[in-house]
Amino acid sequence: MAHLKEERTFVIAKPDAVQRGLVGEIIKRFEQVGLKMVATKMTVVTPEHVEQHYTLDPEWRRVTGEKTIEGYRKKGLTPPSEDPLEITAAVLKGLKAYMTSGPIVCMVWEGAHAVKIVRKIVGATEPLSSDMGTIRGDYVLDSYQMADTDKRAVRNLIHASGSVKEAEDEMAHWFKPEEIIDYKLVQEQIVYAPEIDGLLGK
Ligand code: GDP
Ligand code: MG
Repeated sequence: MAHLKEERTFVIAKPDAVQRGLVGEIIKRFEQVGLKMVATKMTVVTPEHVEQHYTLDPEWRRVTGEKTIEGYRKKGLTPPSEDPLEITAAVLKGLKAYMTSGPIVCMVWEGAHAVKIVRKIVGATEPLSSDMGTIRGDYVLDSYQMADTDKRAVRNLIHASGSVKEAEDEMAHWFKPEEIIDYKLVQEQIVYAPEIDGLLGK
């Protein structure tokens, strides 16, 4: 089994992140926690590629619909539909328009617990509920209610894989194996090495 420090996750700086000049800020936050960027590219995608991305997990339609319904209920609001699949169909339509509206920056980040650490830094899906200190909490004021009223996807700057399995499927969907680079960072010595030697002169 691979060492935990070799875990990888897939991230997209969505079109709003590019347009708002926040790509550097996003990269900075992953870098400063100690993660290593192992792949990156700017691209413009087709609606088909976006739909495939979101439906790589056959459960995504149901789970995302249920998450939205719960989000409305928690705030004492009535969801736009009681049927999770109906909600996700509308979300997916909005996502295709959103994700193809301009260039995006795709990345793979590597490091210990990369999937969970990146999700923690990114924050909850709905910016209205994401904690301050997270990227979505600090830089976005969007909500499900506002996005659904305007029949569009929530603009939350970033996509980040939700599990190691999702990350593996998404990396294969977005990158060729040779585009993901295996290399060492000198800082890994201080971040991961079981013993730290040679820092001081004799
Ligand atoms: P993520 O993993 O946190 O990005 O969230 P999901 O995988 O559940 O949803 C994918 C994307 O769809 C989100 O990042 C939002 O842009 C959008 N989205 C999700 N749920 C809703 C919703 O209820 N309404 C709207 N309008 N957009 C949503
Ligand atoms: Mg997701």
